[in-house]
Amino acid sequence: MCYLILSDIHSNLEALEAALEQARDRYDRVVCLGDVVGYGPNPNEVTERVRALEPAIVRGNHDKASAGITDASDFNPAARFAAEWTHRQLTAENLAYIRSLPSGPKELDGFEIVHGSPGDEDDYLFMAREAFDELRQARFPLTFFGHTHYQGGFLLRPTGRVEVVRVQLVPGTASAELTFEPDTRYLINPGSIGQPRDGDPRAAFALYEPERQAVTYWRVPYDIPAVQQKMMAAGLPESLSLRLSFGR
Ligand code: ZN
Repeated sequence: MCYLILSDIHSNLEALEAALEQARDRYDRVVCLGDVVGYGPNPNEVTERVRALEPAIVRGNHDKASAGITDASDFNPAARFAAEWTHRQLTAENLAYIRSLPSGPKELDGFEIVHGSPGDEDDYLFMAREAFDELRQARFPLTFFGHTHYQGGFLLRPTGRVEVVRVQLVPGTASAELTFEPDTRYLINPGSIGQPRDGDPRAAFALYEPERQAVTYWRVPYDIPAVQQKMMAAGLPESLSLRLSFGR
């Protein structure tokens, strides 16, 4: 069994297609940690592609805002503009799908998935000290989370020590493996497909093989200028388009 773990796709069709192509024939089931839409230029195409994958899925904050569940008043102006634009673009059917996405945590076979953190779907887990309580209180030794757009995560050793999972992906390398250790608890972030913010502009995802107790982090290049041109043509904020080049 192998799970393809996707998160924070953000209406970026080129990045999603590149990731699915790279992962082709390697996975049995798709998991999505939310933020299917928001920021990018292809909300309908991405929603339809995700729906066709029949993923185990939880909603993200941009899904909620774009579906009108929340009013995006806590978003920065560019993000709010994109959420309102996305709301207008979505077909009735795709809007209904995004609106129907469940909140996390969602339990799968021996692990859990969330958007932000196990305790709160909208919380950001950036620092080890923020992850400590979540790691201790999580219902399973393994939880996948997204929201920060940082590939990596955190682990809690049996000694009580929390560590940041540092993904060692030298430029030009596509993947890096993390093998789970006994009696250790993990919060794993596959990174963002559609708007990475960890300094590597390539689309990020992960594969999880329960039998091997291993996660493989992946990065894959995609046609960033094509996405930027579509964003410009759609009148989406330039800041959202420019950041794709830098992965920030
Ligand atoms: Zn996001």
